[in-house]
Amino acid sequence: MKTVYLSLGSNIGNREEMLQQAVRLLASADFRITRMSSVYETEPQDVRGQPWFLNMVLEAETTVFPRQLLGRIQKVEQQLGRRRLAPKGPRTIDIDILLFGTAVIDTTGLTVPHPRMAERRFVLEPMTELAPDLRHPVLRRTMRELLGTIRRQTVRRKTGD
Ligand code: ADP
Ligand code: MG
Repeated sequence: MKTVYLSLGSNIGNREEMLQQAVRLLASADFRITRMSSVYETEPQDVRGQPWFLNMVLEAETTVFPRQLLGRIQKVEQQLGRRRLAPKGPRTIDIDILLFGTAVIDTTGLTVPHPRMAERRFVLEPMTELAPDLRHPVLRRTMRELLGTIRRQTVRRKTGD
């Protein structure tokens, strides 16, 4: 059994509903969602001039392998109508694997820990809410420490616990 963290984001359509649907579709007997962060409304980071995102992080206990999980995530993205229009552009739903236990994976199509998580306030804010003292297996810094290194990007908590 591994503890994994996923990042969910949406900036098209009914964003709240997209996050809820994604959670519903991901949950299964071998992927048990244990905790969810608040939902945050966040400024687009890489490509400006697109709608703001809703972002959250979920924690799950799972027996599935990383590749299998990636496959499931991509299936859920498709079910929720994600079309790959422009890289880093608007999307109905984006689901990323942030951490998979303490695994370090670097293969084509799957890199864990997620390579950009340490620069993203929209990831580190909800991660710190759930697991402030959890250490990044490569950078060896806790989520709280990593969050402290980020100055840019506006993030506001939308819903409370
Ligand atoms: P992005 O999330 O960077 O905006 P996509 O969601 O379109 O872009 O993902 C691009 C590719 O990233 C996917 O096809 C997937 O194979 C790959 N990928 C690599 N590492 C991960 C990860 N940790 N979580 C999710 N996708 C990943
Ligand atoms: Mg993605």
